[in-house]
Amino acid sequence: MTHFTELRRELESYLSSEAVENIYKAYRFAARAHKGQQRQSGDPYITHPLAVAQILAEMRLDEQTLLAAILHDVIEDTPIEKVALAEEFGHEVAELVDGVSKLAQIQFQSRAEAQAESFRKMLLAMAKDIRVILVKLADRLHNMRTLGVLSHGKRCRIVRETMDIYAPIAQRLGMHALRVELEDLGFSAVYPLRSRVLQEAVRKFKRTHRSTISHIETTIKECLEKNNLPPSAVWSHKKHLYKIYREMREKHLSFSEVMETYTFCIIVDSRDTCYRVLGVVHNLYKPLPERFRDYIALPKANGYQALHTTLFGPHGVPIEVQIRTADMNNIADSGIATNWLMSNEDKNNPVQERTRAWLSRLLDIQQWTGNPLEFIENVKIDLFPEEVYVFTPKGDILELPRGATPVDFAYAVHSDIGNSCVAAKIDRRFVPLSTMLANGQTVEIITALNASPNPAWLNFVVTGRARSNIRHFGVESQASQSDLLKVAVQVEVPNQPGILAQIAAAIATADGNIDNINVEEREGNNSILHLMLSVHDRKHLAQVMRQIRTIKAITRVMRENK
Ligand code: MN
Repeated sequence: MTHFTELRRELESYLSSEAVENIYKAYRFAARAHKGQQRQSGDPYITHPLAVAQILAEMRLDEQTLLAAILHDVIEDTPIEKVALAEEFGHEVAELVDGVSKLAQIQFQSRAEAQAESFRKMLLAMAKDIRVILVKLADRLHNMRTLGVLSHGKRCRIVRETMDIYAPIAQRLGMHALRVELEDLGFSAVYPLRSRVLQEAVRKFKRTHRSTISHIETTIKECLEKNNLPPSAVWSHKKHLYKIYREMREKHLSFSEVMETYTFCIIVDSRDTCYRVLGVVHNLYKPLPERFRDYIALPKANGYQALHTTLFGPHGVPIEVQIRTADMNNIADSGIATNWLMSNEDKNNPVQERTRAWLSRLLDIQQWTGNPLEFIENVKIDLFPEEVYVFTPKGDILELPRGATPVDFAYAVHSDIGNSCVAAKIDRRFVPLSTMLANGQTVEIITALNASPNPAWLNFVVTGRARSNIRHFGVESQASQSDLLKVAVQVEVPNQPGILAQIAAAIATADGNIDNINVEEREGNNSILHLMLSVHDRKHLAQVMRQIRTIKAITRVMRENK
């Protein structure tokens, strides 16, 4: 008996025995890697990746996703590296695990709504493969289920991030069941008392209305059978606690007002049957005018399809009836994850392709129905983005076009920053100003008082804002700079904080001008700075270099022959 037994049972219900063995191998690999590590609860660490895999197996995800789920914390929390995973389990799995680890490294800080939206976009953009997001969501779900053992501070941080970031992502991907559970777990963690009171109220409501509910359920079933339209399933739908709470807060409704309408789901075998069932229930109970919605012909923005109608039930209680097929119901529950449910038939089709196909299928539906394209546009942008999302040193997120460089970043912050930009750091390391930015990086711009934009930047900037500023500056300063001498100077500096600012200050003190800085990192502790300076003449250059030498830490200053 191992921890693996329960997961094995789930896997065997839909994967080949070869795939199951492979996942078992990953389990033993991960168990060895996490050996000795414990969760906060005292459980062996391996129970966590197993639970994450269990969640994804219940969603019927493919073998690679399951392997990645079992291994998802190995790169992050053990000495094992990506290459080792690639050797054992293949490149695709290693990429997935690496993607999950990268998401784990960036943390959401700000409370602002706009920031949250950018952060969601950034996460989606960072995941080149949507399965990375699915593993991350399952990881988050298990962490939310086991919140109880964490300290208050840690718990609050995780709940906030879940409510602001992960629940909306789940919603956007149409993963209703997962989103509902995340929200209810978050709600009861933040408001334990309110959640308990509400839960009790719902229980009481069900008890007093049980006979009415089952009466309506049986009546609908019998009536459909009489009309030769036997449904696959009929059930009464309940609102989740957080939704009830939110409706009470936002719409200023009382509990009984929120609960006033009973909702029933009817599952049938075909689209055609949906419409016929609609006719039958409209005959059974009188429909409320203007409450009929045909989401089959006009699907909701996230792909949801069903017929909705509201009826006057027995004793005048309003009943909402939702009619859909089993496939539509899968999409209503798991959204984008449904993709893998249906995926067994086209095994040769890589997942990224299937995701595209899923999106274009949605696009088709929506074009055909003339529905707003909002969702599909969002998801498309999010999954295959034209933008990169990077952090400022303060943790704000900037959205830039793909291919943007630190110079574009500097101008996006402020044109003064762009105009006085001399060097840049990405994730605390100096980089050439022409470096292309990638999602999730933190970018820091080093400015100097007298610096001016270098026309050569026009060769690599991609934003109009940077371009026009550099051009504008060039035209203005051409006249005043034409009589200046351009010299290349090389400075050897130790890698220590603030050194660049000191050099920039020294040059400014001597009235010199920095046109450009390139940093060349060397082995060990030193870097070489290549400075392009503007000075009046040789004598002025000597003054500037002398001023630089006054900085104690600097080992060498010399003119470069160019
Ligand atoms: Mn984890």
